[in-house]
Amino acid sequence: MKLSYTPYTLYFNRPFKIAHGTRTTTPIVIVQLEYEGLTGYGEASMPPYLGESHETVLAFLKKATGIIENLKAPFDLERILKEIDLLAPNNTAAKASIDIALNDLLGKIENKPCWQLFGGNKSDTPYTTYTLGIDEPEIVKQKLEEGKVYRILKVKLNGENDKDIINTIRSITDKPIAIDVNQGWKSKEEALEMINWLSDKNVLLVEQPLPKNNWDDAHWLFERSPLPLYADESIQRFSDIDKVKNCFHGINIKLMKCTGMHEAYKMIQRARELKLKLLMGCMSETSCAISAAAQLSPLTDYADLDGPLLIKNDPFDGIQFINGKITLNDKPGIGVFQRELKE
Ligand code: MG
Repeated sequence: MKLSYTPYTLYFNRPFKIAHGTRTTTPIVIVQLEYEGLTGYGEASMPPYLGESHETVLAFLKKATGIIENLKAPFDLERILKEIDLLAPNNTAAKASIDIALNDLLGKIENKPCWQLFGGNKSDTPYTTYTLGIDEPEIVKQKLEEGKVYRILKVKLNGENDKDIINTIRSITDKPIAIDVNQGWKSKEEALEMINWLSDKNVLLVEQPLPKNNWDDAHWLFERSPLPLYADESIQRFSDIDKVKNCFHGINIKLMKCTGMHEAYKMIQRARELKLKLLMGCMSETSCAISAAAQLSPLTDYADLDGPLLIKNDPFDGIQFINGKITLNDKPGIGVFQRELKE
């Protein structure tokens, strides 16, 4: 098996502002695995808060090359991915890029789409949310107009002009809203006051209201919140799930946090045992990693997979959003086609 990889930069359509800061680009690495005339594609996306960069991902992939190139076939994913995982403690996006390429390859070998291999039903895909960053009212209005086919909004808040942002949106549309605070509310009292204010405004859920390690306050808020609370930054991997119980109602699973599709699938199973709700999320990613996440989306309640809509140089074709509904294709693997790379 041959592993190759290319660093690349994604450019946002507009500067993207959330509680962590504002940015205009995201570094990614595109991975290719070749095996008996087939190519599996994968992607690592590195938003700054995960601590990975082009350099760290390339160094990790170099380290993984020996394991990959000695593989006879990509069949025993549990064993292969465990070996990859043990190479270094973090590097979750780099690990995800290998996992996605292996899953794509496996689907191509079996000539089946991954959604089928994971036991999902193609018609059960959720509608993707459409993300609004923290912007001035004029930009919010423009974005709502551009995204009018999308049925659910994802609204980023940070504790500054939250009520103004929601009031602006509600003066234009009554679409359901998923709120994402990205740890931006400073205290449990502030969080509860805002959640109470939001509770009669057709809000579906509130994601990561408080700082990620603040489990005592998360539990306090969980006992009082009239809206479902979802953990994003607070949890990364399978081993984190059990601590969510009684602190959040659901979790946001992202391939770049949890090392890829194989572990995401296991997280979905465990979350269901714990009666947790599920949201399939993403970083800023191309249609490669988004199509990979979408393969699991029939098994989840909500999906934030609008990553490709926010960037202007997507080098892949893959899943589509038809009137906002995630629409899987029947192509084997993750169902993507790579176009020419253009910066
Ligand atoms: Mg989030």
